Formats: sequence, structure tokens, C-alpha cells
Amino acid sequence: MRKAIALFTTQSGRRLVRNISSLENVSSRREYLNTKFHGTPSRLGLNRSYCEIQGSICWNCQAKSEGKDQFFCGKCGSLQDVNSKCDYFKLYSLSNSFNLNPTELTTRFRQLQSTLHPDKYSNKSKREQTNSLEWSSLVNKAYKTLSVPIDRGEYLLQQQGISIPEDNSTLDKEFLMEMMEKNEEVEEATKDNILELLQTVQNELKEAAVELEEIFNQNDFEKAKFLLIRMKYFRSLEKNIKDKAVRLGAVK
Ligand SMILES: [Zn+2]
Repeated sequence: MRKAIALFTTQSGRRLVRNISSLENVSSRREYLNTKFHGTPSRLGLNRSYCEIQGSICWNCQAKSEGKDQFFCGKCGSLQDVNSKCDYFKLYSLSNSFNLNPTELTTRFRQLQSTLHPDKYSNKSKREQTNSLEWSSLVNKAYKTLSVPIDRGEYLLQQQGISIPEDNSTLDKEFLMEMMEKNEEVEEATKDNILELLQTVQNELKEAAVELEEIFNQNDFEKAKFLLIRMKYFRSLEKNIKDKAVRLGAVK
């Protein structure tokens, strides 16, 4: 990512040649797309149990958890310690799937926020106060990730052991050239056409999000990775355009 941004923002021809030539060995986009990886359908849509505290011992009364509640001890009701490996989907009682109902996610977010809010624990023990802070922070972090399609997609890939590379090594020359041209357009944009550019990029992102949903429905994680890398470039471009629009006074 950083490498590509440097490529976009410098006028150095030498750097450009070096970056492009390093991509010569990368398969063309078509070849890449033909190399599909299909996971088994059951790998997604499963409700993983990373958040369950079944079998764990309550820090307060030493009762063994029956796993009915992921936050509170079934015997003494004290707020349990945070499981930092907690699966975000499980935390929100959602299945591990790209498709989710945003309204359901937001409703659940408000419920969790309310249940775990530190204000509710101000008269409780220090340990419960700390736990409520940590749970609240995890609930917020999970919401930020799950509510944004790009981040939700990247999280699902991480669960499959697939990470998105930070450099431009997996991008083909054609795409990098396209992004470079788009960045040049932003550099040269004026107050009259900057919002039009923003609209174009936002439309591209919307279309890509629809495509991403279809790809995740097919459990084609390698193809999802390929598209997510591109979407992240578009998101970075969108940010550049927004910043420029503010500088030009096209938006308040
Ligand atoms: Zn207990």
C-alpha cells in the first residue's frame, strides 16, 4: 500500500519504472482469476464458539460456566473477563457470513453497549469495572469492523488464514496504471469537477461491494482477496478526493 501510494504521489520516473518492472512476473488479471480457490460451503455460515465461556471458571465464585451467557456468571452474575480471541460475529450472535442485516447489527450493538456500559459498573468491584471497559471496547471494535463491507470481508478472510498484503506485489500493471491515472485526475481536479470524481469512485465502491457479496456467497476466498485489495485502493482514492474537496472548498 505504502509503496503504491509513493508511486502515485511522486513524479519520479525511475521509481515508476522500478515499481512496474517488479510486477512483470505477476500473472495477468485473467490468469489470476482463473486460479480459483473454493472453500467448502460449510466453512462459512457456521456460528463459531470462540466467545463461549463454557467450562471456564468464574473469577468471583469459582463456579464452572455452563456457556449459556457469554458475559455473566450463571451463579453469582458477575461480569466475566474478556476473551480477547472472541469472534466478532459470535459476540454479535451472528453467523460467520459476509451477508448481514445492518439493522440487526446496529440493534445488537446498542443492546451490547447498554448491557456492558461502564456506567453500570461504577458501584461494582474493580475487576468488573475493568471488564466492562474491556468488553465495551471490544464491542465497539467489532462493530467498526462488521459494519464496513471492506473490513468485514478482510476479517472473514483472516478467519480463513488469508491476509491482505500491504504492498502492491499482487496487483497487475494495468490496475496500478489505472489508479495512477485516477490519482493524477485528483491532483488536477478543480472545484467544478471534484464532486463528480467523488461520485464516480463511490459508485465503483458500491458496485464492488455487491460483487464482493456474490463472491463470498460462493466461498471463493482468493477471488474475494483479489477484489478487496482493489477496494482498499479505491477507498484510499476516495479519501484523497474528499480531502481535496475540502481544500478546494467544494464541501464544508
Ligand atoms: Zn460466579
